[in-house]
Amino acid sequence: MRCPFCASVDTQVKDSRMAEDGSYIKRRRFCAECGSRFTTFERVQLKEVMVKKLNGIVVPFEREKLLKSVKVACKKRPITDERIDKIVSSIQRQLEASGEVEISSREIGVLVMDILSNLDIVAYIRFASVYYNFEKKEDFLKFIDTIKKEISALDEKVDSEITGKTYNQCSIIPEFPVGSKDLFNNEK
Ligand SMILES: [Zn+2]
Repeated sequence: MRCPFCASVDTQVKDSRMAEDGSYIKRRRFCAECGSRFTTFERVQLKEVMVKKLNGIVVPFEREKLLKSVKVACKKRPITDERIDKIVSSIQRQLEASGEVEISSREIGVLVMDILSNLDIVAYIRFASVYYNFEKKEDFLKFIDTIKKEISALDEKVDSEITGKTYNQCSIIPEFPVGSKDLFNNEK
């Protein structure tokens, strides 16, 4: 593995560790040339997934980009990194197993929102606001209004049935026009 700092190929594996659930192997590496340390992750890839962006350009699916956008949405929320990693893995598996040659970034966004809407309402709203890329304040407020209605409907249901569900859960993704910004253009 080439060193990400000095590009030397003279790097060594210092330590290999498998994730508790066996889903990846983490390797600590050392560059003999510049002395830097870095970590690599080895994961199963069932098949190469291509993502069609809003501008029509097709690029290979990058797990790291999806991970980053989910992490931004979950920042300071009670969701562990491990949980986020599992969310991204489950989406990746769904994409790989879908049988589609190309998957649009919109579809991936919907998969993420589906999971977040059932997990954490704040993370969901953050992710959705990037996804829908609201251009007007009114559009965003309308979106929040839809969610509010869902939550109160759910609260009533919980009150009457005592299902054990929390107020955090809502499961319907409202239909809104999607803005022109692409979900996967998250370089900042
Ligand atoms: Zn180096």
